[in-house]
Amino acid sequence: MKMNLITNGAKGTQDVLPRDSFQRSFVEKLLFDIAQTYGFGQIRTPVFEHTELFNKSVGETTDVVQKEMYTFKDKGDRSITLRPEGTTPVVRAMLENGLHNNALPIKLSYLMSCYRYEKPQAGRYREFNQFGAEIFGSEDPAADAELISMANDMFNRLGIKGLTLEINSIGCPKCREKYYSKLKEYLESKKADLCPNCVDRLSRNPMRVLDCKSPICSEITKDAPVILDFLCEECSDHFEKVKSYLNQMQISFKINPKIVRGLDYYTKTVFEFISTEIGAQGALGGGGRYDGLVKLIGGVDMPAIGFGLGFERIMLILAKQQVSLPEPEKCTIYIAGLGDEAKEMALKLACIARQYSINAQCDIVGRGLKAQMKFADKIEAAFSIVIGEDELKTQIAKLKNMKTGETREISLDAEKFGDEMMGIDLENRFGKSDK
Ligand code: AMP
Repeated sequence: MKMNLITNGAKGTQDVLPRDSFQRSFVEKLLFDIAQTYGFGQIRTPVFEHTELFNKSVGETTDVVQKEMYTFKDKGDRSITLRPEGTTPVVRAMLENGLHNNALPIKLSYLMSCYRYEKPQAGRYREFNQFGAEIFGSEDPAADAELISMANDMFNRLGIKGLTLEINSIGCPKCREKYYSKLKEYLESKKADLCPNCVDRLSRNPMRVLDCKSPICSEITKDAPVILDFLCEECSDHFEKVKSYLNQMQISFKINPKIVRGLDYYTKTVFEFISTEIGAQGALGGGGRYDGLVKLIGGVDMPAIGFGLGFERIMLILAKQQVSLPEPEKCTIYIAGLGDEAKEMALKLACIARQYSINAQCDIVGRGLKAQMKFADKIEAAFSIVIGEDELKTQIAKLKNMKTGETREISLDAEKFGDEMMGIDLENRFGKSDK
């Protein structure tokens, strides 16, 4: 059919079609179910927030704030931003709704769409979804270990293999002061070769240079001093404890002193789950501690840690590793009708079947009987019934198993039909009474 579409979907966005939607829902439910076993409630926040929330928290020098946010003025002349990440809105919502007054720790999980104006490629979109989890009110390294273990559990339970967990500690502002001056000194000596972005980062936030993906900058930062050598005693002890808990939980990890994460608010533990199987965008998820963010946003001093998993990347790797996911349920019973009266009956019986959670379909297009049966074949209906004049008269029809061709009688009386539907065996066999 020739189409005259007004326009295509916007660049970097995706339409999720029925089969994928079904499988995403399955994955989503599994993730929330796992989070629930760790004591996480669910939270939902608006797609947009006031811009200043992100400017301050994510950090003025980050790529996200500088280049990637979808920011616009609304009709009331307020600056609005589509959320580029989940943690900040969740912190705002937690504080605004007084959740921080509840018993600590507070554990919140969510699935939310995020928006970043990035160059789209496989695994990188302008609208994407993050499954996130945040723990508020604990500075204990056990919280870090528990949160990392939950993400690890999620990947394992989904059947994803071959991921590497990389961890690092980026310390607290105290350790960073010393580190920054050493890092700056090193980077200043290479300034002539750094990309223009990194020259700018160098004065404003030198650790950001470690995050640069340009090959020359990556080469330069290979020999840069690492934050781990500058941790204060408290941060160092904290990191040792996190590692020791992970070891006790038999979660293997690699220390990567180059992980700094893209957002400014992180402190101490940071981590990423990396795959080599889905191309350049290999981070399936990442997170870290952000002990200063809650205070920055709402004045309440509350340590916290969280992660965000890239939902699309999870779906990509599940497909890549051919992990089998449930398929959407097909039509269980197609009720065909010949003539107006039969059509009415078909509509009524389909409704009855649906009361028993049966996927029941009948003609709503105006097809003739032959075309209806062709359609029933196409949608792979497990059973069919044909209602014609005789069936209307006797109130009895033939229930046909579409795979085997076997038939048996079924009453069209509403109550009896309902009883049959209750007993119908979804594995394409006949009702329980037949076994
Ligand atoms: P971040 O906090 O930026 O590290 O994001 C957390 C996770 O979200 C990443 O590890 C990715 O899996 C996913 N993610 C981030 N940006 C994008 C994007 N533009 N498209 C798809 N997934 C993304």
